[in-house]
Parts: sequence; C-alpha cells; structure tokens
Amino acid sequence: MKVLIKLHDLVFEPYISGEEINKAIETIAEKLNEDFKGERPIFLSVLNGSFMFSSEVMKRFKEECEIHFVKLGSYEGTDSTGNVRTLIGLNKSLAGKKVVILEDIVDTGGTLKELDRILKEKNVAEYKIATLFYKPSMYREKFTLDYTGIEIPNEFIVGYGLDYDGLGRNLTSVYKRKS
Ligand code: 5GP
Ligand code: MG
Ligand code: MG
Repeated sequence: MKVLIKLHDLVFEPYISGEEINKAIETIAEKLNEDFKGERPIFLSVLNGSFMFSSEVMKRFKEECEIHFVKLGSYEGTDSTGNVRTLIGLNKSLAGKKVVILEDIVDTGGTLKELDRILKEKNVAEYKIATLFYKPSMYREKFTLDYTGIEIPNEFIVGYGLDYDGLGRNLTSVYKRKS
C-alpha cells in the first residue's frame, strides 16, 4: 500500500527508501575514507538541503576533518529560478586546502557553478563534489561529480533534507511529486 503525504498544496508518493539512501551514503563514505586516507579535508556543506546527508557522511568519516557551511538558494517552490544567490557566505580561509563539497542534489548544476567561482576565489588546492542525488538529464555544467549517490529522472523530490517550501526535510525517506 502506498502512503501518500500532502505538503502545502502538493501530494507526494514514496519513491526512495531510507535503506537505499543509507546504502548510497555508505558507499560514498567508504570511497571518501579511501581517497582521503592520511589527509585532512574540509567538508563544505551546502545548506539547507544537505544538512542530513552531511551529518551522515561526517559520522562515517574516519580521518581528522573540518566542516563548514554555506547557504545558497535558487529554488522557489518546485522550480529552479536559475539565479543562485549566496544567503550565508564562507568566512574561512581555504587557501591551499582540499575541499569536499556536500550537496543534497545536483540538478542544473547552477549551484556548483557558483561554488566553483567561490572556491577558486578562495584559492583552494582542489575540490571534489559529493552529492546524494543527481538528475543527469537536467545537468548543464561540466564539473565532474566525484561521488554520486542515487541518480533520478527529472522528478521533484522531498525528504532527507530536501524541502517543498520549507516542509518535508525531516522525512527519513524520499517522496516524489505525484503526477
Ligand atoms: P541546481 O543549482 O543544480 O540546479 O540545483 C541545486 C539545488 O536545487 C539543490 O541543492 C536543491 O536545493 C534544489 N533542488 C533541485 N532539485 C530538487 C528537487 O527535486 N527537490 C528539491 N526539494 N530541491 C531540489
Ligand atoms: Mg543543495
Ligand atoms: Mg529547497
């Protein structure tokens, strides 16, 4: 039986289970532990959507590390405005550091483009991109996604940190907008 939920004016149906999400995070964390053995990366969590993913990655990461946060926004309701704004900036020197971006979902890539600009301005040594969800059919940028959790078609999803107008972030599995 499918349990539908309603957030504001929209109805959502179950889409990706919590177990599947946990497995994807396990895989990403294992790779990060391999790739950053003996190093001290700085995780850069992109608020708000990636808070849950970020916390799960941090709990599994075994090396010394730091985490910092930026807040960027482009979505209004269920649509990207195509205009990425910095809502909380980065007041930390990252010169010469290795950074791992933690994103909830990569859609058009507009947010990554803005992050690329910010990180280059900060003179980071290198950065990698980890994203829990990815919509390949919507992606318009060229940045390599180094760690990708789950690929999805162009659906609007909520849960596991992702919201619809502020609601749904606390769901421990992912729902998609019912068509
Ligand atoms: P991009 O800049 O890659 O187009 O989009 C990135 C941001 O848009 C994500 O970090 C997320 O905040 C938002 N976004 C993209 N697709 C979805 C979606 O299906 N559901 C929700 N809730 N947010 C999304
Ligand atoms: Mg995001
Ligand atoms: Mg949002």
